[in-house]
This record gives sequence, structure tokens and C-alpha cells, in this order.
Amino acid sequence: MPNTTAELEQLLMQHTLDDPRVLQAAEAAADHRILPNATVLKIGGQSVIDRGRAAVYPLVDEIVAARRQHTLMIGTGAGTRARHLYSIAAGLGLPAGVLSQLGASVADQNAAMLGQLLAKHGISAVSHAGMSSVPLFLAEVNAVIFSGMPPYGLWMRPAAEGVIPPYRTDAGCFLVAEQFGCKAMIYVKDEDGLFTANPKTSKNATLIPKISVDEMKARGLHDSILEFLVLDLIKAARHVREVQVVNGLVPGNLTRALAGEHVGTIITAD
Ligand code: ADP
Ligand code: MG
Repeated sequence: MPNTTAELEQLLMQHTLDDPRVLQAAEAAADHRILPNATVLKIGGQSVIDRGRAAVYPLVDEIVAARRQHTLMIGTGAGTRARHLYSIAAGLGLPAGVLSQLGASVADQNAAMLGQLLAKHGISAVSHAGMSSVPLFLAEVNAVIFSGMPPYGLWMRPAAEGVIPPYRTDAGCFLVAEQFGCKAMIYVKDEDGLFTANPKTSKNATLIPKISVDEMKARGLHDSILEFLVLDLIKAARHVREVQVVNGLVPGNLTRALAGEHVGTIITAD
């Protein structure tokens, strides 16, 4: 284990960047959380924004009230318009990277609309969350809106099967929370949390208040309320070792989750 930057530099110069000694040494320094006081919210596309006014206005009110106490980075999902685009583009034989760009444009649209609704409160949508003016917005008004799709664009890593981009807005928002070392990641969707089966199609499904990533996979729930690659991101995370999925259609849920209450399903790394 190297003690100095010089030792680390020597290791890095002498070995490949995938060498286990290099990987271990590069991990030895103490972590630095970039935005430790911020909480990332993902406002669902299909589950929330596509429902329009009835779902979005009450959440806007909660966000405006909550940012007095909480620093919020608000990411948007894409939803039905993205699914429509994916179906057309996939039918045309276009690749995952192109679909990723198309999906991003829909998450952008949702960020733009949310930005207009929050404008009078001084809360702005930024063109991407990767820093630049984000800390200034947070320092000044305690909140910022971003488009949730990770900006891989054409360089999206394709899934093993099919052309649907495997890293979409659940992943984009999680990665913002994890890279910035944020306090919490809350997914705002349209169900009370994770159920034993999709509650939209299984009447007997019951709510699971807390579950680990491994347990979710073992129970065949990896393809359910979160994009399934997000589970691996949670498991590998250094900072954000759990996420909460809450029902944003129930007034007060978001506020309670921000206050640290357990109102939905908590999915843990271990
Ligand atoms: P977003 O709008 O954030 O993209 P999604 O619509 O992709 O959200 O994901 C939420 C949906 O996942 C729910 O509306 C629900 O229909 C579905 N879902 C599938 N399986 C489950 C499950 N086991 N528990 C809860 N929701 C599930
Ligand atoms: Mg989704």
C-alpha cells in the first residue's frame, strides 16, 4: 500500500491501469465527498411527469417547501415519449447509442418543463449536472434540476440483447448521487415501493419495505421498479449504499422521505 503520491505514481507508471496492485493503490486515499449535503431526487417520467398536472403540481409544492431545509438535485425521467421513440428507432434497426440520444432528449424535455414550473422560485434547470455552475445554484437556492439520462449518447454500452439503452434515467440519477458523494438518493414513482410482483398487473402483490440487492435478484425482482443495472451500481457504490423508492402520488411522502423517514422501499447494497 503506497503512502505517498510518489509511490502511487511509480506504480501507475510501471503497470497497466487494470493491474490489481494499481487498482488497490489508487483506492487507498481517503474518500472525498463532493456534495455531501445534497440529496438527489429522481422524478419519474412515465410514473409521475406523464400524469401531468395532477401528479406534478403537488410535488412542485413539496419541492419548494423542502428546499428550505434540504439541498436538492432533481433529476427527471423520460417515460412514454421515450418508449415511443425507442419503438420507432428499434424498428428502424438503429443502435443503442442512437436510442440513448433519443431518450436523453425526452428527459431534457421533462427537465425543461419542471424548470418552467420552478422558475418563479429561482430554481433553474441546468443543461447537464456534471458540475460547472451546479454548486453555485445549490449554494444560492438550495436546488437544481437536471435531465436524468446519463450522457453516454452514442457511446452507450449496449446491452447483451436488444437495442434499448441499459443505462437510463434511474442510472443517470444514481450516478450523480454516487459520484458527488451525496447524502441520499430518492426515487419518486407511482407505487408505494417494491412489491412482490408488479402491482399494476398482480392484485395480490404485497409491499416489501426493505430489501438488499442480492435478495431482489434472488427473488427475481431485478427487472421491476428500478432499471436492473442500477442494482449493480448500488452494490458497487462507495457512498450511496441504499436508495429509497417512494410513491410521489401520495402527498407528503417526498417530504417525509427527505426527513429521513422510511415511507417506501429501501433497497440496500448489503
Ligand atoms: P419511471 O417513471 O421512474 O421510469 P417506471 O415506470 O420505469 O418508473 O417504474 C415504476 C413502475 O415499475 C411501476 O409503475 C410499476 O408498474 C412497475 N413495477 C414492475 N414491477 C414492480 C414491482 N415488483 N414492484 C413495484 N413496481 C413494479
Ligand atoms: Mg423507468
